[in-house]
Amino acid sequence: MATAAASRPAAAASALAALPGVGSALIGRLALLGITQPADLLLHLPLRYEDRSQLVPIGSLREGQQALIRGRIEAAELGQGRRRALLVSLVDAQAGITLRFFHFRPPQLQQLQAGVWLECYGEVRSGPFRLEMVHPEYRLLPSGADEPLPQSTLTPVYPTTAGLTQATLRRLIGAALARCEQFLPELLPAGLRTAQQLPDLPTALRCLHQPSAAAALDQRPAALHRLALEELLAHHLSLRQRRRQRQTRRAPSIAASGALRGRLLESLPFALTAAQRRVIDETLADLAKPHPMLRLLQGDVGSGKTLVAAAIALQAVEAGWQAVIMAPTELLAEQHFRNFCRWLPPLGIDPVWLAGRHGGRTRTGILADIESGRAPLVVGTHALFQDDVRFARLGLVVIDEQHRFGVHQRLALRAKGDDGAQAPHQLIMTATPIPRSLAMTFYADLDTSVIDELPPGRTPVQTLAVPRRRKDELLAAIAATCARGEQAYWVCPLIEESEVLALSAATETAAELTAALPQLRIGLLHGRMKSRDKETVMGAFQRRETDLLVATTVIEVGVDVPNATLMVIDHAQRLGLAQLHQLRGRVGRGSADSRCVLLYQPPLSGEARARLAAMRETSDGFEIARRDLDLRGPGELLGTRQTGAINLRVADLERDRALLTRLPALASRLEQEAPAAVPRLIDRWLGRGLAYGEV
Ligand code: ADP
Ligand code: MG
Repeated sequence: MATAAASRPAAAASALAALPGVGSALIGRLALLGITQPADLLLHLPLRYEDRSQLVPIGSLREGQQALIRGRIEAAELGQGRRRALLVSLVDAQAGITLRFFHFRPPQLQQLQAGVWLECYGEVRSGPFRLEMVHPEYRLLPSGADEPLPQSTLTPVYPTTAGLTQATLRRLIGAALARCEQFLPELLPAGLRTAQQLPDLPTALRCLHQPSAAAALDQRPAALHRLALEELLAHHLSLRQRRRQRQTRRAPSIAASGALRGRLLESLPFALTAAQRRVIDETLADLAKPHPMLRLLQGDVGSGKTLVAAAIALQAVEAGWQAVIMAPTELLAEQHFRNFCRWLPPLGIDPVWLAGRHGGRTRTGILADIESGRAPLVVGTHALFQDDVRFARLGLVVIDEQHRFGVHQRLALRAKGDDGAQAPHQLIMTATPIPRSLAMTFYADLDTSVIDELPPGRTPVQTLAVPRRRKDELLAAIAATCARGEQAYWVCPLIEESEVLALSAATETAAELTAALPQLRIGLLHGRMKSRDKETVMGAFQRRETDLLVATTVIEVGVDVPNATLMVIDHAQRLGLAQLHQLRGRVGRGSADSRCVLLYQPPLSGEARARLAAMRETSDGFEIARRDLDLRGPGELLGTRQTGAINLRVADLERDRALLTRLPALASRLEQEAPAAVPRLIDRWLGRGLAYGEV
C-alpha cells in the first residue's frame, strides 16, 4: 500500500504541504502510513474512538471500559507494594476509584493533593481493593465539577507511526475534513446513492472522523459501507476496463479444421461429456478471435479438464502455433506429459517436457526446439516462465490447477509470449471453483466456463468421518481393498505448517502400516523428496507396483490413478474444505466404488465439524465452494489472507460481503450515467497501482 502511494507524483505531496503546519519531516512520516496527499488523510480511518463527550459516574464503571470520569481527590499517598507507586483516591458523589502512577515527577506530587478536582480518561482495571486506572490522562478542574466537557464528539484514535502523535493526526485530518469537498469530491451520482441508501461522501467522512457521540454507533456502518462500496466498485470498474483493453489487443486468430482434435477424440475409449464439448466450443470460439482470450475453466476434480486442454491445444498446433501447458508441480506436469505421450504421437505430434531436472545439454536442446518452433506442444511447470524460455510462435497458454489466481499472476503470464504486437491466448483451469458472486466481481476481467458434469459411470465416493482412536479398524479395510487389486492412499497433512513434521508423520505411518500389513507394497511420497524420486514413487503407484501410497498433501492436486479406491485422510480436522475435496478427488476416478475416510482428532471445533459434515453431505465442488465461502468468508477463499493479494484500504470482504453482488449492476449504471467518474474513481482508489493489489 505504502509503496503504491509513495510512487505518486511529487505534486500530490505538495498538496499536503498546503495544510497548516505540514513540513518535510511530517510529510516523511505521513508517507510511512501511505499518506501522500490530502485525500489519503481523509481515507485514513480511525481504529477506534474514545468517548470524552460523556462523563461516566465512578459507581457505574466496569472493568475494561475506557471512560471519562470526574471526582475530588480524597487522598494521595505513596504506596509500598512490590512496586513503588503514587496512589490517588478519587471520589465522586457515589463511589471511589484508585489512580495508580508508577512514574511521576515531584510537581505531580504537589498537584495531586487532597481536595483537588480531576478529570481523568483511561481504562478501568480491577485492583487489589477496588477499580483502578493506571496512568490515566488527567487534567485539573479549577472550577470543579462545573468545568465544561472537553469535547462534544467522539475522539478518533488512528493507526500511526513513530514520531506522529494522535494530536497531529487529528489536527491534519480535521483540516482536510474542512475542505473535503475539494480533496475528495463526491463522484457517485445522487440517484445511485439514494438507490443504495448511502450517505454522501462528506457526511460519511464526517461521521467516521468526527462522530457525534449519540449518532456514532448507528451511522458508522452506513458510512463505512459508503466508502467500502466506492472502493470495491473502483476495483471492479478497473477490471472491466482491463477486460475491454484486452479486447483491443491483438492475438493470433487461431482457426483450423479440427481434424487433429477429431482424430484424438476418435482414438479414445469414451466420448466427451456434453459439458466438455460445450467448454471446448466456447474456447475455440475465443481462439478464432484476433484478441487474446483469458478464460477461466472451472471444473470439478475428475471432470476431465486434461482432455479439454489437449483438444484445445491441438487446435493451436493444427493452425501452426505452439501451445504450452503448465502445471503447479513437476508431478502433475509429468502426468500430463505421460497422457499426451499416449494421445498425441499417433497424430504425428511429439510433446516436449521441460522439467526442472533437465539440465545441461538436454535443457539446451529442448530450449532450442522451443525457440525454433520445432516443438509444437510443451509441458512443464511454472518454471516455463523463466526468461531463457523463448517461443517461436506461442499461440496458447494453458495453466492447470490454478487455485488462486491473483491478478498479478495473470499479468506475469500474459507478458510471456507477448511481443508487443501480439499476445497469446490463455486458458486457466481450476478444480477449486469460486462461487459466482466472487467470480463476477473479482474475476471480472476474465471469461469463465464451467464443466458442470462428471464423466458417466462414476459412483460417488462414500465419505466417512472416524475418530483417530479407531484408526486400527482401517487396517482391515485397506487390506481388503488391496486384496481386490485396488489401491489406497493414506494422507498425512501438514502439522502446524511444518513440512518436516508432516514428513515424520508420514514416515512413521508408513513404518506402522508396513509392520501391520506386511503383505502390502507400500510407497512413501513427500514434498522433500527430489523430483526424480517423487516420479519414481508416483510412477510405481500408477503402474500398480505399490498397493498403498502414504503421502503428505503433495498429492493434493491433479494426481490421476483410477485404480485407487480408498483414501484415508489423517487429521482431517486440520484441513480446509477445498483441500479435503481436492484430496478426495484422487479416488472415485474409475468405475469401482470408492471410499474416503476422514480420520479426525476430537474434540472438533464448530468449524471443523461443519467441514466434515459438508464433506459427508456433498461431493459437488461448487456446493463445497459455497459452503467454504460461508465458513471462511471471501478473504480466505480468494487467498488474500495468505498472500495479501487484495489491497483494500477501507473495504473488508467479510464485513462488506453483501455489497459484492451489487457491483456488476452498479458498475454498468455508473458507466452509463457518469462515465467521466469512472477513471476518477479508479484513480482515487487504485492510484497508479493496479486492481486488487496487483502491485
Ligand atoms: P481433472 O478435471 O480433475 O483434471 P482429469 O483430466 O484428470 O480430471 O480426468 C479424470 C479421468 O477421467 C481421467 O482418467 C480421464 O482420462 C477420464 N476422462 C476424461 N474425460 C472423460 C469422459 N468424457 N468420459 C470418461 N472418462 C473421461
Ligand atoms: Mg487435472
